[in-house]
Amino acid sequence: MSIQGRCRCQSCTIRGLTGPAIVITIGVLFLLHETQGGHFDFQNTWPVILLVIGLLQLASAFSSREGHVDSQPPAPVVPTPPAPPAPPVNPPQSYLASREQ
Ligand SMILES: [Zn+2]
Repeated sequence: MSIQGRCRCQSCTIRGLTGPAIVITIGVLFLLHETQGGHFDFQNTWPVILLVIGLLQLASAFSSREGHVDSQPPAPVVPTPPAPPAPPVNPPQSYLASREQ
């Protein structure tokens, strides 16, 4: 998605932060796993990722959508492929010979 077509309303901005927030959360959890271990083992802390996602979705749902722009891109124009060349009606002998090989 291009930056130009991106909506700048509060709700979409918060939603756009979900990906980076997940990456940062996973990084922090692995850091805790490596440095603290024990109770901060990743097996125990991974649900924090779900909490972060849920909190960001809540924040996005409750924030303003003033100035929201639907960023539905226009349907791509698919060029129709050209029709294959039709064989000659009365093919010369050289054409028939090349087809038989
Ligand atoms: Zn928006």
